[in-house]
Amino acid sequence: MFDYARSPCLPQASPRRETPLGRREPTYKTLEVITYWLVGDKSLNWNTDSYKSAMFELMNMSHSVELRIIPDDEYPGSKSFLFDKAGGNTENSRLILLSDKLSITSWSYPEKTNWSLGGIVLHELIYHIHSTGLTEEANDLRSHYDLKMGGRHLPGKSQAPPFRKNK
Ligand SMILES: [Zn+2]
Repeated sequence: MFDYARSPCLPQASPRRETPLGRREPTYKTLEVITYWLVGDKSLNWNTDSYKSAMFELMNMSHSVELRIIPDDEYPGSKSFLFDKAGGNTENSRLILLSDKLSITSWSYPEKTNWSLGGIVLHELIYHIHSTGLTEEANDLRSHYDLKMGGRHLPGKSQAPPFRKNK
């Protein structure tokens, strides 16, 4: 279930204009930002497998994680976020960046040739922010949800505080 709230327009600096006296005046443009909050379905049994339990724990921790969708060509140091990093990266325990080129499909799409927004979000949250990634391979979750498979990699050190090894 998703709920959303529109946040106020945020000012963002744009190229400065010169005044007749040569001083620079800031100009602003407005940006509309829509914020969605991920909320668990109360009627779902969250104890049927380890991935559902992990997601339940993630949604109920006091630490919040922002999932920020950015233009694909604006990932630092990369021409294509989707090509170089499968369109997702856990920057730290509070921020996951996602490419706007990820396909918006469910994880049961038949061809499994694309990285999907849902699949990458599951991977970043459960494998990198939760402690699940400390004890299993990245492809275990992908196989469980019938997602596109990827390479082996370490979970990194981005676990949120309740899931860190040395709390
Ligand atoms: Zn990863």
